[in-house]
Amino acid sequence: MSDNQQLPLPMEDFIKTLPSEICRQPELYMIDGKTPLSAFRPLHIDQISKIIQFANQYNFAVSPQGSRTALTLGRKLERYDIALDTSGMSKLVEYTPEDLTVTIQAGATLRDLQSDLAEFGQYLPADPSPSDVVTIGGLLATARSGAWRGNVPSTRDLILGMTVVMADGSIATSGGRVVKNVSGFDMHRLHTGALGSLGIISSASFKVLPVPERNVSLILSCSKINEADELAFILRNSNLPIRGLTILDSNASRKLGFSSTPKVLVEFTGIEVSINRSIKDTEQIMSRFGEIDQLEDSQIWDQIRSLANEQKEQIVIRCGVQAKNVVEVIKLAELNTAACAWGNLTSGSVWVIFESIDVTTLSKFRSQILSLEGFMQVEAASMNIRDIFNPFGDIEIDLVRALKNRFDPSGILNPGRWTVGV
Ligand SMILES: Cc1cc2nc3c(=O)[nH]c(=O)nc-3n(C[C@H](O)[C@H](O)[C@H](O)COP(=O)(O)OP(=O)(O)OC[C@H]3O[C@@H](n4cnc5c(N)ncnc54)[C@H](O)[C@@H]3O)c2cc1C
Repeated sequence: MSDNQQLPLPMEDFIKTLPSEICRQPELYMIDGKTPLSAFRPLHIDQISKIIQFANQYNFAVSPQGSRTALTLGRKLERYDIALDTSGMSKLVEYTPEDLTVTIQAGATLRDLQSDLAEFGQYLPADPSPSDVVTIGGLLATARSGAWRGNVPSTRDLILGMTVVMADGSIATSGGRVVKNVSGFDMHRLHTGALGSLGIISSASFKVLPVPERNVSLILSCSKINEADELAFILRNSNLPIRGLTILDSNASRKLGFSSTPKVLVEFTGIEVSINRSIKDTEQIMSRFGEIDQLEDSQIWDQIRSLANEQKEQIVIRCGVQAKNVVEVIKLAELNTAACAWGNLTSGSVWVIFESIDVTTLSKFRSQILSLEGFMQVEAASMNIRDIFNPFGDIEIDLVRALKNRFDPSGILNPGRWTVGV
């Protein structure tokens, strides 16, 4: 603690009851320029429960955090008193390779989990994440995905069970650790994508998948964005073993080191013979489009993903539309002077990066997406923009408010992250 003198008395007394090794310096946990009163790095679920119980009793606001890579996702916190660092809870609880199931604590990093699974030729198909340091808790609480969505099950769909510390400090478990599990409701789905506003995820069980025998990515050049659209749909309807299918606009293509024309990026996974066949089929399809380049590793997918983290000041937008409108959104983004854009055809998600944009243009862009019956969210932006522009829009806000009231009636978990008072 930097300055215990300034702490409210109940907090000062509470800290004395905790083992000193779990108390951290609050200065290390600033969010949007605000330092919390105190910070804890619990090593056991009972310690999380004790902290949340205390916070609930005295109405201190708690913000759970893993590797802190996505703390600008959502609105600025309305209150922030306690930082809850989950990185002390990083154990592999149980792994049964023959059943393809694993249970892991929420503070473990995706990198550590993948390396444990890789020893047995297995993996968790978390779509290219911003960096391997992201935690399992952060991955689930944000529930974002990339080009694999719709082609392989998303992380969310592979959850078998979860243990969560609720806003009153009680511990709730849903689902189980095995695939055959029929009891109870899938309450864990509520915490997935809830941005830590309904409970603190302590551990999760997943079904995992075998690593494919081979994967290959092809970069397909087109002269126009409409051609890229046509090509992507031909591939999508081809029955080839696709794991990723993304359309890059010419700026995204250039930023990734390719020529400045639109591209379609496709990844095939499977056994050797089916990959070879897929490459041949694609070569045939490409005879009436443009050049084709082959990559033997999947790094390009991480590189695309990292465009969203290139500059701190940039504004990152995620839109969701029907597949037929993916290229329409890319064109609208270009008209609104986006720095680059790319769209994942199977899931209909389009990512758009602006180097700078005023709120009026941002609102206009949102209306354009809404008129395509889609949604538009701000995934990363400066505090100033998130202060005056609702990152999520009005979608499902009544439902979110009702859930918050039921799960966290005192509003102590990440208050304000979704919308005013939620
Ligand atoms: C611009 C952008 C693009 C992204 N693109 C992708 C993508 O392509 N593929 C993909 O898989 N993911 C994507 N993500 C999400 C990504 O998975 C997260 O950035 C990452 O998983 C966060 O992990 P972290 O440990 O750094 O979480 P943090 O940044 O520490 O926390 C993120 C959020 O989760 C909450 N949280 C953290 N841990 C817990 C917990 N144990 N219980 C409850 N709440 C918790 C925090 O309060 C916060 O709201 C994207 C995110 C952003 C901002």
